[in-house]
Amino acid sequence: MISSLKFTELGEDYFSRVTTQELKNSHLIHINKDLQASLEIKLSNEELRAVCSGEEKFEKVEPIASVYAGHQFGYFVPQLGDGRSCLIGEIKGYELSLKGAGTTPFSRGADGRAVLRSSIREYLCSIAMEGLNIATTKCLAIVASDSDVYREHVESGSIVTRVFESNIRFGHFEFFAANGQTENVKKLADFVLEHYYPQLKGKNCYLNLFKKIVQTTASMIAGWQAQGFAHGVMNTDNMSILGLTIDYGPFSFMENYNPSFICNHSDNQGRYSFERQPGVALWNLERLADSLKNLIREANLKDALAEYQPTLIKEYSALMRRKFGLLKNIEGDSELINDFLELLYINKKDYHRSMRQLTSLEGQTLGANFNSWFKRYYERVEKEDEKANERNKLMNSVNPKYVLRNYLAEVAIRKAEDLNDYEEIDTLFNLLKSPFENHEGFEAYDNEAPDWAQNLELSCSS
Ligand code: AMP
Ligand code: MG
Repeated sequence: MISSLKFTELGEDYFSRVTTQELKNSHLIHINKDLQASLEIKLSNEELRAVCSGEEKFEKVEPIASVYAGHQFGYFVPQLGDGRSCLIGEIKGYELSLKGAGTTPFSRGADGRAVLRSSIREYLCSIAMEGLNIATTKCLAIVASDSDVYREHVESGSIVTRVFESNIRFGHFEFFAANGQTENVKKLADFVLEHYYPQLKGKNCYLNLFKKIVQTTASMIAGWQAQGFAHGVMNTDNMSILGLTIDYGPFSFMENYNPSFICNHSDNQGRYSFERQPGVALWNLERLADSLKNLIREANLKDALAEYQPTLIKEYSALMRRKFGLLKNIEGDSELINDFLELLYINKKDYHRSMRQLTSLEGQTLGANFNSWFKRYYERVEKEDEKANERNKLMNSVNPKYVLRNYLAEVAIRKAEDLNDYEEIDTLFNLLKSPFENHEGFEAYDNEAPDWAQNLELSCSS
């Protein structure tokens, strides 16, 4: 079955055809077998390697790279685009995208490559987010190679194959709006409606589409904030129109609870710090609204934007209530939750381990500073109707035991880079895929970072 890319229906204003550039001696180091099976990609491992390294086309489809713009760290850049990624095909409604397969017309002087380290991090974080039930792009496979790629040091080139319903970002709309091409903005909105939200077509379709984007973005951010995920580069070109977490770079899961946590070493001003993410997403939605102002009345855009905060608070609160096992809504609950978070911050406690310990009511392990809080918590929990074991089960289904801590990723990266040993990637992949379950024999993987990993630095250049 030949499946062409539906994105090409939009016409050549939106993309360029590209030729992928081979890596030396490329080899598959991990395959997401479940994803391969669900997409019914019936290729041998050698055929998959050839496709995922850009050596062979996928079902004869010509790869394309799309053009977009974006606000980067608050400043508008009129042309960005897929500078190191390209769409290579589509299957069962999902687009396949190679990240790191060489330059495109949008590379802006950069090399079009991705390094092994960043591909492994993206691959593992995609499965981690999926495991945490946060909307995300997925990854099908990682290819490593003997090609040199120059960053701060010489590293090896790699390609990660991403899978998503759509690569369209806020920045795609910004590009055409900034060029005064209202017809192309409209055509893009029609395309998104047609293929992703056909139920919204008809009266007020553009407003309803925008409302949907506000809602999916709010849900995504609620998941990030509840699970301690910091994205690091929330530029509008990294915001998915479908509310998927996209473009993993210097992301990090927060470990010691700290609202002003900044994961991106290059983010000197802390624009994208953990606690600023909800506000930044709204700012980004406002930039998208600016791009849609010829399709939607300004007052309606304002009303739609006003729905962001209540949606976010509702979803975030629901997640946090489940994390604390507070199913009934009782006055003082928010205070109880916030007081615990503040104690974690003051006492430099690990967010995930501390939350997980609530289940077993092992307050003692957090130290004497938590005693009076736990007294309040025990009293509050008494008011719940569910039996303790049922409540615990529910809490354990939102408080992960396994989190992609930077040191865990780093161990997997070092083994892969230095020893060509890819076992650790597989181990982490399996743990992160079902992070709420106990995996026997892998208890140590929920340990906090060892001393050597206290100062790992992450930045944009990967
Ligand atoms: P990011 O914020 O990392 O998602 O990337 C911002 C922009 O830079 C996008 O247009 C990317 O395609 C582009 N880009 C990032 N790294 C490279 C690279 N090594 N080669 C070409 N383009 C790149
Ligand atoms: Mg990007």
